[in-house]
Amino acid sequence: MPFTSPSWVPKLPEIPDSISIDQFMWDENYNRHPLGYSRPPFTCGLTGKAYSALEVKERIDHLARGLAKELGWQPNQRTEWDKVIGVFSVNTIDTLTLAWATHRLGGLQTPANAAYSAEELQYQLRDSGAKCLFTCLPLLEASLQAARAVGLPENRVYILEMPKVATGGQEAPKQYKTVQQLIDEGSKQPRLEPLNWKQGQGKTQCAFLCYSSGTSGLPKGVKISHYNVIANTLQISTYDKPYRDTKIEPRNQSDYIENALGLLPMSHIYGLVVICHASVYRGDGVVVLPKFEFKSFLQAIQNYKINTLYLVPPIIILMTKNKNVMDQFDLSSVQGIFTGAAPLGQETADDLQKLYPDWSIRQGYGLTETSTVVCSTSGQDIWFGSSGSLLPGITVKLMSIEGVEITGYDQPGELVVNSPSVVMGYLNKPEADKETFQDGWMRTGDEAVIRVAPSGHEHVFIVDRIKELIKVKGLQVAPAELEAHLLTHPSVADCAVIPVPDERAGEVPKAFVVKSTSVGLEESDRMVAREIAKHVEEHKARHKWLKGGVEFIDVIPKSPSGKILRRLLRDKEREVRRAK
Ligand code: AMP
Repeated sequence: MPFTSPSWVPKLPEIPDSISIDQFMWDENYNRHPLGYSRPPFTCGLTGKAYSALEVKERIDHLARGLAKELGWQPNQRTEWDKVIGVFSVNTIDTLTLAWATHRLGGLQTPANAAYSAEELQYQLRDSGAKCLFTCLPLLEASLQAARAVGLPENRVYILEMPKVATGGQEAPKQYKTVQQLIDEGSKQPRLEPLNWKQGQGKTQCAFLCYSSGTSGLPKGVKISHYNVIANTLQISTYDKPYRDTKIEPRNQSDYIENALGLLPMSHIYGLVVICHASVYRGDGVVVLPKFEFKSFLQAIQNYKINTLYLVPPIIILMTKNKNVMDQFDLSSVQGIFTGAAPLGQETADDLQKLYPDWSIRQGYGLTETSTVVCSTSGQDIWFGSSGSLLPGITVKLMSIEGVEITGYDQPGELVVNSPSVVMGYLNKPEADKETFQDGWMRTGDEAVIRVAPSGHEHVFIVDRIKELIKVKGLQVAPAELEAHLLTHPSVADCAVIPVPDERAGEVPKAFVVKSTSVGLEESDRMVAREIAKHVEEHKARHKWLKGGVEFIDVIPKSPSGKILRRLLRDKEREVRRAK
């Protein structure tokens, strides 16, 4: 029997399948928390700048009209694939206004990681077929380079405004239109016709194209439908409701609402769906920070009385090791943290709990391919090390390597997920689709066990990763991408990249390299290794750098069909590390 969510979890409401995400968030028919229509959804954590909910609603409308005029797009003309908007920016208070305006126009957004190099951005712009690009001032140069390379004209590059304190007082050059200018222009444009969707179109219309390498290969565009995002938003809020209801204070309030930390990148599914959609849907306010800087993060918690900190494990580790810095700030508003994107070690959770005994420490597990959360710990049923119970509407199976379903507790198997939040598939990658998505089930490439908690409820523990993916500070690194890049270096005849554990980042990439015959005898291994590492540093985002080192070997282990046997290298590496 597959596993489902425990009996205490409320039933999932019907998921609307014929509306766009902006309608779901802003029409008053979809049970969004009433305060969501009067509280500012996003507040800048550096300056306090915010637009009221009504202003945001109007800004979405005006921006959609402005974009319609600027780009010649209309809501019911052409498909979303002709209306792809690239976004390469740090978090801003307008990022979601832009996403929802894009959806209002029947378009889709492809958000790129702000840490990318121009080359990495170029790959995503080309692969997604982006028709224009929104960026922020610090990333303008890289954006222009990538835009030029893929043939996007300069007048199709636009600016998302950032607070001046974050740009060193600089303003964007006048030739690039800003979101504010488009909004101002849009306010003078005629109203747009409503979206005229067929029954069920929400399930087939792509809303976001996020990039993930999945179980193997290069980063791929993950087609996330409007229905997928709406489903996970409802799953998260339904699951959390019983716990949030215990926090209603004062008692005459109808519901609990809070301030949430909006630090994690809105380009990644966790920031995008859990923080920007689920929190805002529940009426919470999101305090937006453009990047992680320890003191400004703590200052924002103090200034804006943030209640829930959405984090990834490396930030938690930093917190546990710097109590003296934490103590300089008033963190009394914090009720708890929520972590995901990579495993949170039990010891780290224990350390944090010792420092802050009142905080509830929750962990979620999810993937881009499931529009985020599959399971999470509820504040009412915390068990360190566990990723909690299944959200409503989700069924999982555990499969052995031999393809046999595992039905018992404490037995590891690959986690396979069925959920309305499982995405439509990968863009133009039928082979990867076949491998990952089968009859409504999604193979996660993660190894899990199900255990029964002291509460009596079933919990999911993620115990290992079967797939190639490396997670550095919660960010994806695809070994195949680094291997392809390493092979362009003249000293590399063959190579394989694997994850190795790292105390701060969780994991970092390590390369095994077979030297090419062009390497001279006088060149030391250290020199060649440095050169190879530099080759990555010059072209790839920082989290992809070979912090795990470069090791030279005689031959890369491969299967008879030529597939790299990374597992062998990983096991060997684990043994070596254990022996140390
Ligand atoms: P992404 O698509 O970037 O969100 O990456 C998804 C992958 O991150 C999963 O397949 C897991 O390998 C890993 N992951 C996410 N959350 C957790 C967690 N709580 N524990 C362990 N691994 C996680």
